[in-house]
Amino acid sequence: MTSPTPFPTGTILGYPRIGPRRQLKKAVESFWAGTTTAAELEDTAVALRQATRERLVELGLHAGDSSIPGSFSFYDQVLDALCTVGAVPTRYASLVDSEGSIDLAGYFTLARGEGDNLPLEMTKWFDSNYHYLVPEIGPETVFSLSSDRIVREFAEAKAAGYITRPVIVGPVTFLLLSKASDEAPTGFSPLERLDDLLPVYAALLGRLADAGAEWVQLDEPALVSESLDAPREDALAALERAYASLGALDTRPAIFVAAPYGSLDDALPVLALTRVDAIGLDLVRGDVPHATPGLAAKTLVAGVIDGHNIWRGDLAGAFDVAQRLSGLAGRVTVSTSTSLLHVPHNVDDETRLDEHLAGWLAFADQKVGQVATLARGLTEGRAAIAAELAAAADARDARRAAPGVRDGSVRARAATLTEADYSRGDYQARLHAQACALDLPLLPTTTIGSFPQTGDIRRARARHLTGALTDEDYRRLMEAEIARVVALQEEIGLDVLVHGEPERNDMVQYFAEQLDGFAVTENGWVQSYGSRCTRPSILWGDVSRPRPITVAWSTYTQGLTRKPVKGMLTGPVTILAWSFVRDDQPLADTATQVALALRDEITDLEAAGIRIVQVDEPALRELLPLKTKDHADYLDWSVGSFRLATAGANDATQIHTHLCYSEFGVVIDAIRNLDADVTSIEAVRSRMEVVADIEAGGFDHGIGPGVYDIHSPRVPSIGEITDLLDRALESIPERQVWVNPDCGLKTRGYTETVESLHNMVAATSAVRERIGAVVPA
Ligand code: GLN
Ligand code: ZN
Repeated sequence: MTSPTPFPTGTILGYPRIGPRRQLKKAVESFWAGTTTAAELEDTAVALRQATRERLVELGLHAGDSSIPGSFSFYDQVLDALCTVGAVPTRYASLVDSEGSIDLAGYFTLARGEGDNLPLEMTKWFDSNYHYLVPEIGPETVFSLSSDRIVREFAEAKAAGYITRPVIVGPVTFLLLSKASDEAPTGFSPLERLDDLLPVYAALLGRLADAGAEWVQLDEPALVSESLDAPREDALAALERAYASLGALDTRPAIFVAAPYGSLDDALPVLALTRVDAIGLDLVRGDVPHATPGLAAKTLVAGVIDGHNIWRGDLAGAFDVAQRLSGLAGRVTVSTSTSLLHVPHNVDDETRLDEHLAGWLAFADQKVGQVATLARGLTEGRAAIAAELAAAADARDARRAAPGVRDGSVRARAATLTEADYSRGDYQARLHAQACALDLPLLPTTTIGSFPQTGDIRRARARHLTGALTDEDYRRLMEAEIARVVALQEEIGLDVLVHGEPERNDMVQYFAEQLDGFAVTENGWVQSYGSRCTRPSILWGDVSRPRPITVAWSTYTQGLTRKPVKGMLTGPVTILAWSFVRDDQPLADTATQVALALRDEITDLEAAGIRIVQVDEPALRELLPLKTKDHADYLDWSVGSFRLATAGANDATQIHTHLCYSEFGVVIDAIRNLDADVTSIEAVRSRMEVVADIEAGGFDHGIGPGVYDIHSPRVPSIGEITDLLDRALESIPERQVWVNPDCGLKTRGYTETVESLHNMVAATSAVRERIGAVVPA
């Protein structure tokens, strides 16, 4: 290959795909519903891509220099890579046509399943809230270039006058993120198939070069993570082999390998000695690297603008970091640290945000502007962008001094905390006090909190928001719903009841709306997976609780029944994980503030007669850092914040927590340290594997491994649930075991929910009878 055209001086690693008004979500969902055709969906996508390119040029990227990434996806970039290389699992072979490719409908089928054929598993994309689909690779997988979508999208842009930079998940990351297929023998690692996969990437690069692409971006974030299954030496060897081979191709665009989400560490020296042309570093999460052999021949793309958070940030600091790299590489350019997929489109779309707060923020469009500014600084010198750097510094100063950012009383309280504030009394004493207070049978049955959110509930909430429904009418409607849910639970025969959470739009946003220090957006949507979007709250200031949040709902509910009703709170780690967090203090400090607000809420719930409080922490595992060296510190503050939130409870108050994943083993010590009296956890999809972890980990508190998979509309039979309970009782002493679904019932329909819960209670009765449990009258 001839010497490449220079890498663009400023670029982004990717742009939100959903559209500023979630156009893609709507288009995809109406295709699923059968109201539009595949051709209409393609047309919408063409228009969205064109609008994105025009917008990016308007914001300061360039039409002709490969600075605009071709990062569109209908659903997920890993699924796109899977379809490109033809790695369709055997159970979906019928979706592949005679030319080996898969159409749009088939593409969505892989993501969503069909009949008895399970969809691809979905899991978290590094430490973001985005979820990708997990490819299944085995010795039987046949790799071949099966989709030219990425080439067609390049050609589409070119015809419109743009030279874009196609983006695809790189071969090493693709395999590292894959799991072994059902057909694979034990011990098989997808990485073993690298040599068969590389020719397909080579063919793709050839096609892109022929179409006129000057640069291609291969995303290799797996190299920054230490949390993947393959041994590090294998990952590094694969990286070396992959880029030695792709680099040596005669016909290819220049290769840009991007490594977002952390530092490359020992992978950088490996990559620097291959024949790739540019390397992208995440300098927001990762550190500025040392001098590295080979880098002098490369372009280093300095990811200095945070793609992962929404702050306008320290622009001058970002510029300095980029400049500091200049001694290390042949050339330095700037970019975002990650794709902008994780942030909303545009701050200007927010009409209700406090104007000061708005001035401290940068969503995707503002970040593109920042990249363009820094790029200009690199070419024209710092003086050329002095005004922009100064404006950003002024905004930061204003933010630091703004009322609410630092609240003296919140800080004073945090400063007086001692060890004792983090511990409850002795567990045996608590066990005894709770047994007296609650009088529960062996194998108590309960649910995780939410009941199905019907159209009526959603409509009432929407009408309340617009003012069409008065506070009073709204409260009455919700109370009627709660009364219905309580009657239903009594009829089913559950032991510990919930109010069903009808008043909550979202388990984090609900609390964010009622705590000081948070703001919520109108249009701040980000893609969570596929067509699913969330609207994270913005945690901008010191957190405090102006008034009780859940107490009125919980007391109303407890007034309807003699059975214990669980108060229901979202834990500090989850509130942080699903919000945009402040960048001006350690996460641990923010967690302490949220924990104190929740601690007060628990005190108020107790005073109002609530005997059980559940503090959900589904995101505890999710926030675990990618680097092992960072685990201890994270677990220390995250577990600490849960303990701080709950340790004010009396011995007789039973504290529950709920965790939403099944890889219990990795965090078992942390879960034990939470010291919750009862922990419910997802278990069905992993076939109760958690039970072995619990046994191995010597866990002696209450535990409810889920026995009803709420991710599917399927009703589990009494026999199935009995088997799962038996499996749990083989390893866990019966006095510890609770019976509950895997997670909340919010997304389920009523018919299947009621039937499933009936079966759950029936199975429990059968098992109790068999083990001779005495059930209190
Ligand atoms: N209490 C919440 C619910 O039932 C828990 C949700 C979750 O774990 N994600 O909806
Ligand atoms: Zn859950």
